[in-house]
Parts: sequence; C-alpha cells; structure tokens
Amino acid sequence: MDVSRRDFLKVSGVSTGLVLAGLFSLKSVKAKAQTFRSRIRYAKQVSTICPYCAVGCSEIVSVKNGEVINIEGDPDHPINEGSLCSKGGALYQVAKNERRLTKPMYRGSGAADWEEVSWDWALKEIAKRIRKTRDETFEMKDKQGRAVNRTEAIGWLGSAAIDNEECYLAVKLARALGIVFLEHQARLCHSSTVAALAESFGRGAMTNHWIDIRNSDCIFIIGSNAAENHPVSFKWVTRAKERGAKLINADPRFTRTSSKADIYAPFRSGTDVAFIGGIINYCLENELYNKEYVAEYTNAPFLIDPRFGFKEGLFSGYGSRQRKYDKSTWQHQKDLRGIPKEDKTLQDPNSVFQLLKRHYSRYDVDTVCQVTGTPKDVYLDVAKTYCATGQKGKAGTIMYAMGTTQHTNAAQMIRSYAMLQLLLGNIGVSGGGVNALRGWSNVQGATDHCVLFHILPGYLKTPRAEDKDLAAYLEHWTPKSSDPKSVNYWKNSPKFMVSQLKAFYGKNAMKENDFCYDHLPKISGNYSHISMFEAMYEGKVKGLVALGQNPAVAGPNVRMERKAMENLDWLVTIDLWETETAAFWKGPEADPAKIKTEVFLLPAACSVEKEGSVTNSGRWSQWRYQAVQPPGKARRDLWIIDRIFRSVRGLYAYEGGVYPKGILDMAWDYGDEPNVHKVAREINGYDLTTGQLLPSFGKLKDDGSTSSGNWLYCGSYTEKGNMAARRGLSDPTGIGLYPEWAWCWPVNRRILYNRASCDTKGRPWDPEHPVIQWTGSRWKGDIPDYGATSPPEKNVGAFIMKPEGHARLFGAGLADGPFPEHYEPLESPVKNLLSNTQNDPAIKIWKSEMDKVGTPDKFPIIASTFRVTEHWLGGPLTRNLPWLAELMPEMFVEISRSLAQEKGIRNGDKVKIASARGQIEAIACVTKRIKPFRLNGKTYEQISLPWHYGFMGLATGHSANVLTPHVGDANTMIPEYKAFLCNVEKGVV
Ligand code: SF4
Repeated sequence: MDVSRRDFLKVSGVSTGLVLAGLFSLKSVKAKAQTFRSRIRYAKQVSTICPYCAVGCSEIVSVKNGEVINIEGDPDHPINEGSLCSKGGALYQVAKNERRLTKPMYRGSGAADWEEVSWDWALKEIAKRIRKTRDETFEMKDKQGRAVNRTEAIGWLGSAAIDNEECYLAVKLARALGIVFLEHQARLCHSSTVAALAESFGRGAMTNHWIDIRNSDCIFIIGSNAAENHPVSFKWVTRAKERGAKLINADPRFTRTSSKADIYAPFRSGTDVAFIGGIINYCLENELYNKEYVAEYTNAPFLIDPRFGFKEGLFSGYGSRQRKYDKSTWQHQKDLRGIPKEDKTLQDPNSVFQLLKRHYSRYDVDTVCQVTGTPKDVYLDVAKTYCATGQKGKAGTIMYAMGTTQHTNAAQMIRSYAMLQLLLGNIGVSGGGVNALRGWSNVQGATDHCVLFHILPGYLKTPRAEDKDLAAYLEHWTPKSSDPKSVNYWKNSPKFMVSQLKAFYGKNAMKENDFCYDHLPKISGNYSHISMFEAMYEGKVKGLVALGQNPAVAGPNVRMERKAMENLDWLVTIDLWETETAAFWKGPEADPAKIKTEVFLLPAACSVEKEGSVTNSGRWSQWRYQAVQPPGKARRDLWIIDRIFRSVRGLYAYEGGVYPKGILDMAWDYGDEPNVHKVAREINGYDLTTGQLLPSFGKLKDDGSTSSGNWLYCGSYTEKGNMAARRGLSDPTGIGLYPEWAWCWPVNRRILYNRASCDTKGRPWDPEHPVIQWTGSRWKGDIPDYGATSPPEKNVGAFIMKPEGHARLFGAGLADGPFPEHYEPLESPVKNLLSNTQNDPAIKIWKSEMDKVGTPDKFPIIASTFRVTEHWLGGPLTRNLPWLAELMPEMFVEISRSLAQEKGIRNGDKVKIASARGQIEAIACVTKRIKPFRLNGKTYEQISLPWHYGFMGLATGHSANVLTPHVGDANTMIPEYKAFLCNVEKGVV
C-alpha cells in the first residue's frame, strides 16, 4: 500500500475524532493516490464491511498475487459514501501484520511460555478437556428433581467480533454441550438497551438507522460521543444540521461531539433519569406532548391497579430482604373480557398518564439541576428546544451509547429516553427514534443470534428449569391477549420455537419427542458476565472458551477477573492476537509458576480472510467477502467452531460420556470445509415439505414442517438469493431507506414501529418525510407493520410486539419499577435528593473479598471511562497496529485544571489513581474539557479515563477497569463502568 506512516499520521492526526472525507481525498496524499490508483487498477477488488464499529461502513480490498495491497472506503455504500475513520482506514494493518497469530499455541500448567502445537493435537486435547469437565459436572436433574441437562462449570464468551453464521454455530455448539454460562460483549455494552427498548416498544434494537438521522429536526446526543466513537455516523448529524436541525449534547465531559453542538449541557455521570425526568415533567407541565399520539399509541390511557403506589423512592411491593419487587400491584385494570380498561381523556387518577404526571412532578427544574449539576439556564434551553419536536410534523432523535448503558440503573435511563420520545410522538417517524449506537461491527447480529445465557436465537426465551416440557415452555412464554384488535405478534412463538428446534436437531426433532426440547439446557438463575466471573472466582467454573473477547481488559474489576481465571483448569482463546486474556498468566500480578491453568491459543482469520454477514446498528445485515487466505495456520472462526464440535462429538460417539444424546442429536453437517452459505440458509429456514427456502417468517409453522435457525432472519436468504449481499441503490421514498441495499430485520423494514408515523387514518404526521402512508387501498413506503392492504382503521395498535398493541409509558416488566426513578450510583459522594433510597433497590451486591465498595471519605472523586477514536474497546484490534498505536500510545487520564492545581499535578505528569478495587498509573492530561460540578454549594471533582489499555500489544498501559466495580444493573447486570469513586495523587505505582 502506498500510504506511508507519515501520510497516515498526517491524515489521521489532523482529523482525530472527526469524520474523514475519505482517506485518500486530502491534498497531501493526492499525488501518491495517483500512483497507486494505477497499481490497483488491475488488482482484484473485494467488498468488505469494517470490523470495528456497528456503523457498518463498507471498504474495498484490493488484492494482488493473493496479498492485500490496499483497503479504502467504498464510495457506493449509502452509509459511509467512501468515508472512513482512522480505525477503518487502518484495516490494512490488521490484514498485514507480523503480530498476527499464525499457529496454534499451548501453555501447560505452571509453564512460563507457549509452545507451538498442531491443530490436530490442540483440537483433540480441547475436546478431552471439554468432555472431562462436562461429564464431571453435568446435571441431568436439579435439586428439585427437574430435568435441566446442563453444566455450570464451562463458560463461553464471545463473540460480537464474528459473523452471524459463526455466532449461530457457536450457540448450537454451546447449547449442545449444556453450557449455561453463555455470554458475549453485548452483556457489557448494550444489554440494558435490549431490556429497556423491548419493554417500551416490543423490540430491543435501534429503532431507525444511520442515514435517517439526516431527517431529524433536533438531535439529542446523550451518553455518547458519536463524533469520536461512531465517527462516520456523525456525517448524518452534520447533514441534518445543514438542513437546519439543532444538535443538543449532554455529557459530563466536553467532547468533540459537544464542540459541534448548538447546546452543550454538562451533567453528572449517572444522573440521566433525573435529567430526562425533568424534561418529561417540563413536557407534561407545558403540554408539549403529541396528545393524539399519546392517547392512541401508548398505554397512557390504561388504568392501573388502584393499590399501586410510590413512596420514598420505592414502588409498591418492595421486599427489602430479597431486594426484589412483588409486582402484583403494577398491573392493568381489566374488563370482564380481560382487555385493559382505558380512559382516552387521560383524566382518570389511576390512568398511566396521571400516574406519570404525579411521578415526575417531583422532578422540577431546580431539584433536577441540583442533582445533575447542569446550569439552570442551559437545562431550560435543552428542555424547550427538544420538546419543540412534540409538534406534529417535527421529529427529534435521541442517540446514546455506553455513557448511558453502563450504569446500575441503565435500563431505566434508557426507558426514560423511550418515554420522552413517546410523549413527543417521535417513535416510528423518520428523523426520530431511540437510536442505540451499538459498538462491535456485529454486536447487533450476535445479540440477534443470542450468544447470551437468557435467550435463544431470535430472542426466544431460554427454557427455565420449571418449563418441564415443550408445552409448559410454550404456555409460559407465549404472551396472550384477549383484545381482538391486538396483533400480539409474539403469539407466534410456538412457530418460531418449533422451527428453531427443527433447525437445531434436524430429523431427530419429532413431535413425539417434543422436537428434542429436552436437550436444551435449562437455566435457574443468572449466568451473566459478572455472575460467570464470580463463579469462576469461587472455583465453580473450571473451563472457559473466550472467542474474540478480552475480559482481562474489558471486564469490570479486572484484577478480580484475572484472578478468577487462575482458578480455571483450562482456557481456550480464539483470536487474531495474543491478548491479555490469553496471556493472563503473564499479567502484572501473576506468577506463572503458581498458575495451573492450561491455555490453548487458537489463531483466527480476520474479517477480510473469510466471508459471512454482519448486522450493523441499524439492523442491516450486510455480506462481506473473503479477499485473501488467513496467514499461516490461522483459520476461520466457522472452521474452528465446527472442528471443536466435531472433535467433541467424535469422543462422545466412540467413547460415550454423560448425556451424549444432547450432542449426538444436534444436526451438524456443513461440509469438511464448513460452508457459510449452508449455515446462512439454515438460519433463514426451509419449508421441509418442499425443500424450498422460506421467503419470510410469516410462513413458519409449529407442526415440524418448517425449520428456521432464527425466525428474525427468515427472509435473509431466500430462493431469490442472498439478500444481505444486495447492493441496489434505489431510494424510492427519498428519505434514505435504500430498501435494496443489503437486508434488514424484520422483513426488510427499515424503520421500526412505522405504523406510528401516521395518524389513525394512515396520514403521515410529517408529509415531507413519510415513512409509510395509506393510499386508500394500500400502504406505500417502507415495509409496514401490518399487511400492505390492511386498512388503517383496523390497525391502530402500532406496537405489534406488545400484547396490548401499545407502547409502554408504564412498564411493569422491569425489575426496578414501572417508571424510571433516580438513584445514585453504588459509589457516589452525593446524597440522593429525590428520595431516601440512595441506590437502585433491586441491584445485586456481590460480597467476595475482591468486591470492595469505596466510600467518599477515602475516594472523593467521581470517575468515569471513555473511548478514543484510534482504539477499539479492549484494545487488541488497534493496540497491535503500528499506525494507531503511535497515534494513541499510552494510558492517560483527563483531569480538571482545578483538581490539578489542588494536587500539584502538571500536564504530562505521572499520576496514581486508586479505587477500592486497585490502583493504576496514567499520564495526566490537564484539560478544561473536564470540570468539577457544584451541587448544593459543594464542589465535586471528576476525572475520566480511556479503558482500552492493557499489558499486551504495541501500545500498552494500565487498565482503567482495575478501578471499576463488579456491580450490575438490576435488569441485565450490565456493569457500572461510568460512575465510581477514586482518588488521584501525583506519582507512580
Ligand atoms: Fe466506519 Fe465505524 Fe469502521 Fe470507523 S470504525 S470506518 S465509523 S464502521
């Protein structure tokens, strides 16, 4: 590639954190561009999707003589239009990198180094370890005698870094083994999003998509630094601003996103519910909501049990001993037919609307500003500007990311965004939505395929121990509605589940044997990331597979998580690099001689060395192609997963073991070199009577005559071909839907809940940007929520995934309250001003000796973590690239000028940062980007740290997650990375 290090640094350095207009379009590299243009003219050009973030930018890989010679942005791609950020621009160095793993490696018990091994040997030995641990710990029945068919001694982590087809096979493999500790990165980044949005609207994903941001009248970015962390997405923010849209940014730290905002509102980390609760109150008090939308499409008119109440931060039904709510008073009042009672005037004191008004009346501007630290005039400006989008025909969008999702009450923070958007009529419309900015390139796909303990592909529930057979399972998990107007789409769960069992177990799945339902492991507790490491720390988890995931840097309280790994008998890591997780036994506090864990390190192919689909944040499943072979003996993840399964299956087939049928009955035949298209077709599903691929999930049946590995992706690979590979650029609506570019779930619908973009008669709220509209005989525009010819009067329940057909302002499904309530983070120097309940009352507090909680007398400073453009999450995919490592070479901490003065710290000094969990060292970056907050006459300092660094790679440094606590959200146990307490001193550790 003819871009020198100097050119790259010039381009990337100048535009750090900003969207590049195209790596090669800057003047300084134009001349060189001419030279290599002629070189790449005759090269093979292969289309790929960037492996970093879930914006899903496309790149063109030029290949000559089997080698990558150039990678650049794809000008035809409707999202990135040729642009790339510094990470996408550095992809070349992932493909061409001497630090890549090229051979399987093994580290024996107590050994001080790796040894090279063959694939044959590694796979055989891994299979033996898996069988031994599984057989020694397999539970066919639990203590109550219920069939569970599981092992709680093997964990599987990963991965959002692999393709959809690989995720699907990983799930099949893990479930066949009986693994219940099944997790991936989504638990740590957006699990709270899924819980909150599914409860509010019915689905847990970004409602709109990247290009649609341009149609917004007001963009509210909170808990996200989109300009730096989803750089190409910011192109669409800029386009909206060019149309006259306003940009509001609320963030504890002044970032590059803030620098582009019309209004920047600082607020204290962890106070989102107070911040948004105040805007909800402002909206209600000033009647700025869309009354028709609220009355018709939300549960605002529904009447709630009169016994429901709220006092001193607690909703009715709280049991302090179990730290749990009895939700019996949180229910709708129903008539004799079982249909929720309503008051469309919204005046009944027990209506959701009146309860909502009462709840948020406490969130007056003065109180909110005392909690959040936001200046009152700025706060009022935010409230007034954003609530203006409640006018019919106006649209406001909320963009958020891990600044919101990683808190102890994160799901409720996101719920508050959803509720504000519902009041303003901003869901379903173009330029609106609650837009979760997902991280990894395929974190949405890995979530859809449910590499997660509590769900099966397509968000079907993992069976619980009490779901004794398929009938009991379906009875338990299929929602019911007596309302004839309600679509209640989840009523189709039996069709989805039976079709999935047919895909999993093939011909072995028969009606007579409950379609092999028994084989699925049953859960009876929480098996999420934190629980997995707590169990590992206690010595209960004995084997772990980490696939493209690096918990030794990215996990919370990493000292504890690294220590927990010392208790493993064996660890398998599958990666491009020797990560901190693979090398945990060489870590700063580790003594290899005392660590008995055997470690297998398997070299994987990178994104341009294999083909498959990845799903971006906007739910677009995009196909990427193989450009070159992987280096040395590195192999595709699909190949590795396939070989592990077949090696284990071989052992059980020939030598037997405990409950072999769970493994032997699994349908698994993808060819000797596993064929990714075969997997993609299995995910889509077949009509088993004809052998034809199904066109959509509407065709699925519950009698065993159809199969579909994931009902949500039914329609992605049909008799018409691979829909994810489409590159059609037509945009018939003119609002940027691009319906023929790739494929989007569900059924290629680009904007979720689009029925709500029109009034009850099917007329768009915004005629200039109609998502769908009723022509008198059919719907035109995006794929509608209802049938194309189904008249609007019949179809007013716009939220078809909710049994009642209405979005939920009152959401009884969450663990910690039907309305979001402000609580302080577990570690906070501030007393809760809104009630006497200091912390979220439903969170689980862990008690091991390494789960310490800090107090403000010892740790008075509020700390938070953040990301930089040049590094990627836990770091391996960027800290091993010379270009990026040089741009962001070492660990630093952002400190306010006042704190620096108080502590005698100058810019560039080394400082020690300590929390109750540990101590790290970083370079001080003294900056006015970060400022203390004044609350009730007292000053509270804050610091912020990037969390990408670790002890391996080219750019090394202490890990910020040494400082973070092992505590999670009450609903999903997503860790609290964004608000904790620390102290800072000048000096070295
Ligand atoms: Fe695009 Fe994200 Fe890749 Fe940057 S990291 S090029 S924004 S997909």
